[in-house]
Amino acid sequence: APPLVAELKHTLKEVFGFGQFRGTQEAVIQNILAGNNTFVIMPTGAGKSLCYQLPALVLPGTAIVISPLIALMKNQVDQLGAFGVNAQVYNSTLTKTEMNRVKRDVISGDVRLLYVAPESLTKDDTIEFLLKSTISFVAIDEAHCISEWGHDFRPEYRKIRGIIDNLGGNVPIIALTATATPKVQLDIQKNLQMDDASVFKTSFNRTNLYYEVRAKHNTKKQLIQYVKLHKGKAGIIYCLSRKKVEEIAELLRVNDVRARPYHAGLDQQVRIDNQDAFLNEECDVIVATIAFGMGIDKPDVRFVIHFDAPKSIEGYYQETGRGGRDGLEGNCLMFYSYDDILKLEKFSKDKPVTERDNAHQLLAEMTNYAESAVCRRRQLLHYFGEQLDTDCGFCDNCRHPKERFEGEAAVGLALRA
Ligand code: ADP
Ligand code: MG
Repeated sequence: APPLVAELKHTLKEVFGFGQFRGTQEAVIQNILAGNNTFVIMPTGAGKSLCYQLPALVLPGTAIVISPLIALMKNQVDQLGAFGVNAQVYNSTLTKTEMNRVKRDVISGDVRLLYVAPESLTKDDTIEFLLKSTISFVAIDEAHCISEWGHDFRPEYRKIRGIIDNLGGNVPIIALTATATPKVQLDIQKNLQMDDASVFKTSFNRTNLYYEVRAKHNTKKQLIQYVKLHKGKAGIIYCLSRKKVEEIAELLRVNDVRARPYHAGLDQQVRIDNQDAFLNEECDVIVATIAFGMGIDKPDVRFVIHFDAPKSIEGYYQETGRGGRDGLEGNCLMFYSYDDILKLEKFSKDKPVTERDNAHQLLAEMTNYAESAVCRRRQLLHYFGEQLDTDCGFCDNCRHPKERFEGEAAVGLALRA
């Protein structure tokens, strides 16, 4: 018999320390417990992890959680460990001995959640030990990685369906993403062959986030002022290149800001250390490329700055979504110049035509957003197929309508001249 609501609430309180389910969490959990395929589309910070973590505690066997990044797996496993839950990672960072221990504990049924990257899943010996185990369900976190239309496409993600089939039996699948575009959703469902899935989609309006776009001039000075205004508070600054990341991190450090860099060119250990320092509040500001942040759960990030224009509205929305996850203050500032867009266009110059067209289209949408005088929230939600009835009153275009319009018109002219 399915666990009663009271039992689920008890686990929610006992293990996670939460008094209430949020939004559609409970309905999602019931659907998983009923053994149905489930597709969860909720914005960043909505609480998707709980949707598979809690059922994994209630159901017999081990839940497999497919996750794209080692840092992301570590973050969740550490958190679950602190709650007293036996969750493990199984990936290339483990020694042979550690791998054997994890295998043994999964087979014996001691492990509630096993976090894996799609790459480890395709290995023969992984399949072999999973066949000896009881698997409650497979959760695919950050499922947009499946889609070529998504902003962080990972080819190995497209093989997941075949792997699940190899595991035999009828293992339910739960796919989760914060990507709201219908195109990506369709692609995910098609690739996972889960047309039968119950879909749970919530609004993408993040009402506590303040959106602002400023023209790029004296940008470094503006940046320092802004960061000093939020002194001691946690923030993320996104830059386009590794070089810029290093430069800005250094600039902030000499200005007495506890800032650290994060990008794929850094040694793995340095990356982990810097991420941990940010999570543990040993540093306040992370200056990063978009390699940073997916699934990172830090509730009190007070500002997210895009020092350079992002590649797409989708990416922008995801990155800003890392601010204010606790529902409190979250300031999203983008520095924009049309030069950035041109630079980004150049990146896709040598790509195949379809990819280039796709990139161009995304950048055109980004340009429109940045240069527009329309309520930012209205634009963002429109992009995700949602209608806002009134202007939000909580973005730069709503707060300073006239000023913005003139400023932007002037900047637009100057930059395109
Ligand atoms: P997502 O994966 O959707 O971006 P997370 O699963 O990382 O979001 O959750 C975001 C934050 O919300 C976390 O700090 C998490 O602990 C918190 N959270 C999740 N569910 C609840 C709940 N029912 N009550 C209170 N906080 C919750
Ligand atoms: Mg998540």
